[in-house]
Amino acid sequence: MSEVIKKETILSGMQPTGSLHVGNLEGALRNWVNLQEKYWMYCCIVDLHALTADYKDTKGMKDKVFQMAVDFLSAGLDPEKCAIFIQSEVPEHTELHLLFSMLITVPTLTRMPTYQDKKETLDSYGFLGYPVLQAADICLYNADKVPVGKDQEKHIWLAKDLAQRFNTIYKKTFKEPEALFTTIPLILGSDNRKMSKSYDNHIPLEFTEKQTEKRLRSFYTDPKKQRQGDPGTPEGCPIFLLHKVYTENPEQEIAPECRTGALGCVDCKMKLNANLNNALQPIRDKRVELLKNQDFVWDVLATGRDRARQRAGNMMDKVRKAMKISYRKK
Ligand code: SF4
Repeated sequence: MSEVIKKETILSGMQPTGSLHVGNLEGALRNWVNLQEKYWMYCCIVDLHALTADYKDTKGMKDKVFQMAVDFLSAGLDPEKCAIFIQSEVPEHTELHLLFSMLITVPTLTRMPTYQDKKETLDSYGFLGYPVLQAADICLYNADKVPVGKDQEKHIWLAKDLAQRFNTIYKKTFKEPEALFTTIPLILGSDNRKMSKSYDNHIPLEFTEKQTEKRLRSFYTDPKKQRQGDPGTPEGCPIFLLHKVYTENPEQEIAPECRTGALGCVDCKMKLNANLNNALQPIRDKRVELLKNQDFVWDVLATGRDRARQRAGNMMDKVRKAMKISYRKK
């Protein structure tokens, strides 16, 4: 893969949580798969970020990283078009993180919404500095854009601010990255909260058809609709939200019959089950194929690491020169 062709660069990252679920697929991965056609993509499995919460329990990290790489590839990320790599295998991330940490005050970091949300349970120095590491992740590849949800807007602002500060204090070195907001569907889990592995309300991509059906049967629905015949309200029902992604014309095919009561919730879930399983089947097939060829997955990660290190190494040379901490003869 040559980077001679002029394209903008995107950095995207995801914390390794093991195998991914439908919320990850529709909330991020599908978007990344589309973006790889237009941009140089660096897809980083951010294991160092995961340590801010799980620094004691690291025994499952290798498997979580591997499973995430399998799902990236199964969902359609193409290693010819994007570098898929593990953050800690590119030590320049931690180096730039340290250098950036000199340019920001502690009060600025304590005002970050993510710190405010979790400071009662996570108050380590590493967690406080999490957005600085994220800024380093982005600037290390001189990324033009970062695909994020609105909840990450403040972090991209921080990355841009750090890039600006560095450019002003030393020498223009970094591009100022921009958030790339895309409309992503709202995906809720079985308990009507955001779909998340930590809530155990999710539908993993690795589920079989039977497991998917069982999980869908447990999903929350409109509580006023107790049985077929009762009128329901599709808006806000997590099953209807999934129909909006996986069923053609849900506003005509599902919503009216829900409202009149002609459609019962079990039948509604089974229609979704069929459509969802159809959509996930190619991903599941690819998953099985990759699990039979695990060396290929590790090779993809090694190639991605080498590409990432090359770009990151060049960037760090520029950073050290700009800061006048480059101590080679010339
Ligand atoms: S019929 Fe479908 S959309 Fe309506 S409340 Fe039941 S599960 Fe939700």
